Amino acid sequence: MTHSRFFENVSYYFDKAAKHLDYPKGLLDQIKICNSVYSFKFPVKMDDDRFEVIEAFRVEHSHHKMPVKGGIRYSDMVNEDEVKALAALMTYKCALVDVPFGGAKGGISINVKNYSEKELERITRRYTSELIKKNFIGPGIDVPAPDYGTGEREMAWIADTYAAFHHGEIDAFACVTGKPLSQHGINGRKAATGRGVYYGLREAVRNKQLMDKLGLSTGLEGKSIIVQGLGNVGYHAAKFLQEDGAKIVGIAEFEGGIYDPNGLDVQAVFEHRLETKSILNFKTAKNFEKSEELLEVECDILVPAALENQIHDGNAPNIKAKIVGEGANGPLTPGAEEILLKKNILIVPDLFLNAGGVTVSYFEWLKNISHVAYGRIGRRYEESSVKNVIAAIEELSGKNLSDSQRAQIIRGASEHDLVNSGLEDTMIISFNQILEIMNSRNLSDLRTAAFIKSLDRIAKSYFELGIFP
Ligand code: GLU
Repeated sequence: MTHSRFFENVSYYFDKAAKHLDYPKGLLDQIKICNSVYSFKFPVKMDDDRFEVIEAFRVEHSHHKMPVKGGIRYSDMVNEDEVKALAALMTYKCALVDVPFGGAKGGISINVKNYSEKELERITRRYTSELIKKNFIGPGIDVPAPDYGTGEREMAWIADTYAAFHHGEIDAFACVTGKPLSQHGINGRKAATGRGVYYGLREAVRNKQLMDKLGLSTGLEGKSIIVQGLGNVGYHAAKFLQEDGAKIVGIAEFEGGIYDPNGLDVQAVFEHRLETKSILNFKTAKNFEKSEELLEVECDILVPAALENQIHDGNAPNIKAKIVGEGANGPLTPGAEEILLKKNILIVPDLFLNAGGVTVSYFEWLKNISHVAYGRIGRRYEESSVKNVIAAIEELSGKNLSDSQRAQIIRGASEHDLVNSGLEDTMIISFNQILEIMNSRNLSDLRTAAFIKSLDRIAKSYFELGIFP
């Protein structure tokens, strides 16, 4: 599968939406292009004393809001076109969910399986120092985060390297998000993208008008779902969807897929894969040696939560799901999208559905620059106020609450509660904004509506800056 047209694909969606807006061509061109593309190579010493040249990228797509924001991907498929496309998607994603950042993305062309932890640490620290040299990282400049192949561990190395180069800079730890909790991270960031996928799909299936068109009942209860990818996004999305009553009937990974029409226990599958190093042979589930075949199995919702270009002209005609929820960035090619739309399949687009990660990254960044954890100041006060209200009501009514009722009512919001509430609110508001645009403009798909919302916001901010008076 070639990835060399990913940026072109994102631009295609941009153009499709731009036709519905009345902005000058120059402004639209400015939004569409990548502002800065940094492509670089550096040597790293391996454990056996060999030197290896590492190829890496950081692309800042749009500086209309600062800092710019987006993950760093470690994969041997990383190339400039891919990073540009992912950076552009970050711009549109942030604007859509009203996160005040421009878009960026980074990538290192390595297969993490071929490197030891020490080698990965040296690669990550050196990558960070290259970004520092060129001013491509900083709390008010460019703030990376995890993506495919990276996680809390890499973010901690990045933060530590940046802090070492910026001794005394009080906001240094806001230079990257997705950090471990002990390193100024935030509760709920790790699960955030998957949780956002769950909130987003829950919102879509709640809508009677949309479900009627698909011949589906409203609500997640009993909906059959196939998930591609049991990484951070796929695992959490599947888990939350299952907890709310959906049936995860299939999970696809590199090594193959498994299918059980009665539903798979996501947590048990996750542990089975950790233990046996393969998803296959899980209890009585049916094995799919070719995992891509699982995407073509009948289900209500298909959630590609792995990589781009997974559904293309070749397999799109065989997709039988009624809804495709894009957990990954760019899992459909434009050709596939056209085929699916003709088949009356509802596509819940990536720039909305997987925006939970960057939304909670924004909360982490705010926590870092404000130097106080959410709930730290108000929680006890909130609890004692509620205690006083309960005491007054008990005295007036002559009746008392049970201890467990009291504890439940009194409990003030923790950081985790606040983060999840902000995330839920963001996903609900954004979905309804997209839907409103789709209906009022008589559009046939959610992606075009999402791009319209996003472009309109970005264009307006350029006008507010006075750049296009
Ligand atoms: N890599 C994630 C994404 O594609 C998160 C980015 C962030 O948190 O900045 O949205």
